[in-house]
Amino acid sequence: MSYIVYDFAIIGAGAAGLHLAQAMLEDEWFEDKKILILERDDKATDDRTWSYWEKGVGKWDDLIAKRWDTGLFNTNRKSINLHLAPYHYKMLHSIDFYQYAKKRILNSKNQAWVKEEVKSVVPGTIVKIHGSKGIYQAKQVFDSRIDGDFKTARDKYFRVIQHFKGWVIETKDPVFDPDTFVMMDYRIKWKNNTSFTYILPTSPYSAMVEFTLFNLELIDDHEYDELLRKYINEILKIKDYTVVKTEYGIIPMSNYPFHRSNKEGITKIGTAGSWVKPSSGYAFKNIEKMAGKVVENLKHNRSPSKGLLTPRFRFYDTLYLDVFSNDNASGEFVFETMFTKNSIQQIFKFLDEETSFSEELKIMIGFDPRPFLNALLYNISGVRF
Ligand SMILES: Cc1cc2nc3c(=O)[nH]c(=O)nc-3n(C[C@H](O)[C@H](O)[C@H](O)COP(=O)(O)OP(=O)(O)OC[C@H]3O[C@@H](n4cnc5c(N)ncnc54)[C@H](O)[C@@H]3O)c2cc1C
Repeated sequence: MSYIVYDFAIIGAGAAGLHLAQAMLEDEWFEDKKILILERDDKATDDRTWSYWEKGVGKWDDLIAKRWDTGLFNTNRKSINLHLAPYHYKMLHSIDFYQYAKKRILNSKNQAWVKEEVKSVVPGTIVKIHGSKGIYQAKQVFDSRIDGDFKTARDKYFRVIQHFKGWVIETKDPVFDPDTFVMMDYRIKWKNNTSFTYILPTSPYSAMVEFTLFNLELIDDHEYDELLRKYINEILKIKDYTVVKTEYGIIPMSNYPFHRSNKEGITKIGTAGSWVKPSSGYAFKNIEKMAGKVVENLKHNRSPSKGLLTPRFRFYDTLYLDVFSNDNASGEFVFETMFTKNSIQQIFKFLDEETSFSEELKIMIGFDPRPFLNALLYNISGVRF
């Protein structure tokens, strides 16, 4: 048992744990606070390609691998050019973020990094953390482990999954436009599900091509491969290419109230704290924002999770999840309408939860009302019409 009582302990040095640790390092209020980071992994692999949009200059610009100012949204019916200004779409390799953040933590005076698998956490005024190697104590714990009930509980919450496989491919011929990324291309789909290809080109000869589904079931590995091959051959018309890297991921898109697992002295963070935007699965930028809010709450002696989630936007997310769960085939049309009737700036603003109610109403009115009306009635009355 470690006899030190840390002011704060962070379990998990992934996106959320590291964003929070960095935000604490950058604020002098935390200079005299003892902070412990417990992570089971070395964080030495490039396991995620994080992309996000933001206006102008951002906090991680020195680490990003690529930035785009234009994008494309494609279906069989239309192709929409996305001119992002004043936003940029940025790509960051997780390894660059892990290494940068870990180095800063190791060089700091008040943050300690311990390689440890946490087994359980006991709430209280002093929280006890039981790891495989020892027991640690802290006044406040931030925990990025996902609540075990999420997978097993039978309840009213939607559990859509965003799952994807991406290949970084290299070609002999210059086939990609490195200035334009593809946000969604619905020309190849899995069955009739909400599924699309996403492309991040880094040069005329190289791109990450990723097949993504927003649905309720995982597919076999060889099915992603077939879909990727089909897209590369039939849509991109590339015959000669080499796969140099593969990425696979699953992101829960759910209105499950992860944050309700917060207990005395324990605040759930990241995916485990409902910090992933349920309707899109985008999380990186959201996590940065949430980490900033937690820091402000701590400085002002408020509950760390105060004001992190906005009920109005949680409700909109629930409507989208209802549509993906009960009328999955309409996903393509929902996105096509969204990209046709709204500027990309307005879509980003909405997804960033920065729109006003009247702007949201305008976005909602633009949709084919049927799936959303059904979802709305169900989520108000509990009866499916
Ligand atoms: C492949 C992939 C690509 C993604 N791409 C994007 C993207 O482009 N844009 C975007 O916005 N979002 C993206 N996401 C979604 C989201 O940004 C990530 O899932 C993000 O990493 C979530 O952060 P987190 O801290 O909650 O979880 P993680 O980053 O997974 O961190 C959790 C950490 O906790 C550690 N841990 C878990 N259990 C224990 C334990 N018992 N003891 C000690 N340590 C433990 C893990 O080792 C891990 O380091 C992607 C997700 C995946 C999987």
